[in-house]
Amino acid sequence: MNPDALEKLRTGVRDVPDFPKKGIIFKDITPILKDGGLFRASIDLFLEQCQGKKIDKIVGIDARGFLFGSAVAYELGIGFIPLRKKGRLPYKTESAKYSLEYGEAEMELHVDAIVPGEQIVLIDDLLATGGTSASAATLIKKVGGELVAAIFLIELEFLRGREKLKSTDIISFLKY
Ligand code: AMP
Repeated sequence: MNPDALEKLRTGVRDVPDFPKKGIIFKDITPILKDGGLFRASIDLFLEQCQGKKIDKIVGIDARGFLFGSAVAYELGIGFIPLRKKGRLPYKTESAKYSLEYGEAEMELHVDAIVPGEQIVLIDDLLATGGTSASAATLIKKVGGELVAAIFLIELEFLRGREKLKSTDIISFLKY
């Protein structure tokens, strides 16, 4: 990873304090998305990490994981699978619950999204506590997928989310 490119990309991450609730510093990636050069640079980083891996499909996490994951899948010429919050997918689903800071949430995947044995790369904008991606990993395995790597644009290292994803290759570009 080119350090200059990473520093440039970092300028596109805006800290929004107290969103969506007091005490959280939200890492807003919309400045990256609205800048053609930065958006392309971010997708190129994901693509670089996919090189040399046998990947059948990309799974993107609702909703910002869709933005990065679908562009990566397009460039690789492979399929994209949306992993969605409960109640959004129209067909039969598998689901997995996970904990948020308070309460629980649930993610869903279409039962036929992955052919058993397919090699999957999971993509999201940010790894925080790891609850979301750990539940994504559980779901991918439940439908027979093999998780090759989980790739994030941003990692909040102090929340130690990668400890929840131990059995997977975890890659992130901008660490805070
Ligand atoms: P977690 O399950 O705690 O790892 O949270 C990861 C998910 O929540 C990702 O889909 C992120 O988009 C979102 N998220 C969590 N914390 C933040 C934050 N500080 N800024 C932006 N997005 C966040």
